[in-house]
Amino acid sequence: MSGDANVQRPSVVVVGGGFAGFFAAGALERLLPPQAADLTFISATDHLCYSPLLPEVAAGRLDPRRIAVPLRAGLRRTRVVQASVDDVDFDRQTLEVMADHGSIGPVHWDRLALTTGSVTRTLPTPGVATYALGLKTLVEAQYLHDHVLRQLELADCAQDPAECRARLTFLVVGAGYTGTETAAQLQHMTTTQLDRFPGLRREDLRWLLVDLAPTILPELGPRLGGAAMHTVRARGMEIRLGTSVTAMDDRSVSLSDGDTISTHTVVWTVGVTPPPLVRHLSLPVRRGRLAVDDHLQLRDGVWAAGDSAAARDPFSETDADYPPTAQHAQRQGVVMARNIAASLGCGRPRTYRHRDLGLVADLGGVAAVARPLGVPLTGPAAKVVTKAYHLYALPSAANRIRVGADWLTNLVSRPIAAQLGMVEPAAARLAREQTGAGVMG
Ligand SMILES: Cc1cc2nc3c(=O)[nH]c(=O)nc-3n(C[C@H](O)[C@H](O)[C@H](O)COP(=O)(O)OP(=O)(O)OC[C@H]3O[C@@H](n4cnc5c(N)ncnc54)[C@H](O)[C@@H]3O)c2cc1C
Repeated sequence: MSGDANVQRPSVVVVGGGFAGFFAAGALERLLPPQAADLTFISATDHLCYSPLLPEVAAGRLDPRRIAVPLRAGLRRTRVVQASVDDVDFDRQTLEVMADHGSIGPVHWDRLALTTGSVTRTLPTPGVATYALGLKTLVEAQYLHDHVLRQLELADCAQDPAECRARLTFLVVGAGYTGTETAAQLQHMTTTQLDRFPGLRREDLRWLLVDLAPTILPELGPRLGGAAMHTVRARGMEIRLGTSVTAMDDRSVSLSDGDTISTHTVVWTVGVTPPPLVRHLSLPVRRGRLAVDDHLQLRDGVWAAGDSAAARDPFSETDADYPPTAQHAQRQGVVMARNIAASLGCGRPRTYRHRDLGLVADLGGVAAVARPLGVPLTGPAAKVVTKAYHLYALPSAANRIRVGADWLTNLVSRPIAAQLGMVEPAAARLAREQTGAGVMG
């Protein structure tokens, strides 16, 4: 994998096709002349998933392909390998790589970039890994969309009123931006779908958002969190703060406030944790993420960036690491590429420093909250900023055009609600993600 028979060039390998890996691979192509190194990009998926728009896929407002950016589309001379890295041998400088049909390793590296992202964090709460639904991948988003629509159908044909109410009860655990956006957008979808079910009563539709924290959307500060809470409560969402899940099965959830809720839908969005490979490497970590220096370097010849990496945030008052966001992952990918290129004699190394540009949260309908560059916005102004930000941040013109076209179409026509049933239930279970079995999805 490191060059043709006559010319031995150093081999640079990037592992993980998310924001950090995609931007690193693109920057390496620009920074390193072809004769300086052979470039290889190994990723379990053949696309970057633009995860900030996953809630819109779950709510049926965007087709899944709209937010899948093909890795090969942005790269010219990098060898792209769709496979999973199972292990790293730091002494021999090789990777153990598995494709669908079996092992394709060992793969040699002279410079290694680890950008394997994160998976949904589960807790040892009984039933969670088996019954809760995540929203970290396109597979999960498509499954969640189908699952919610199916609950409306099952409620419509339920003979028992209690079963009908359980089918129409939806619980989202975790009120950060993923959970709040997902709850708000799916609640909006179910409410607008209900007029197609004359047999179902609106008052039986119940959405709950549960979090142990004292507020929702803590990332956006108390003012915008309060505004978001007001908006979703006005639509009928029940918010239970200071509350956690103590157990669940396929038909009910027990909460720490003593309540038991009959439901067939629990969406689990309580944060992220590094994937199995990172946990398996036995390298120094902070909160599970690989501890890198301010050049994003892990050890000699090895760098890490994005959700998998813990880099100290010099702007943090509490000496925290940069948060796991796409905003940081993509910028870290570029800085890491500069430092890898510098180690091969091309350019000078850089430290990573980036002050948050703010966050946006789309609450469905015309509602949104946003804090671009520290300016708090709500309502239509926030909605415009949110949409504009995503169009700007999507790293491909083809995806941007299609997302923009879907949004314009949604203004004049209701999104098409149909269960395609293309995802097996087992493929969308959190247990699969945790063991790494879901990585190839
Ligand atoms: C629903 C949702 C909404 C979000 N909204 C926002 C937002 O509004 N703004 C924001 O800034 N951030 C947001 N985020 C967070 C953002 O998506 C992540 O911080 C970002 O994706 C991290 O990028 P990454 O490159 O580190 O990892 P990822 O994007 O997770 O990519 C990692 C890649 O590595 C691959 N991989 C993993 N292990 C292996 C292996 N062993 N071998 C080969 N490949 C492997 C994975 O398949 C994946 O392709 C959101 C996340 C979610 C889930």
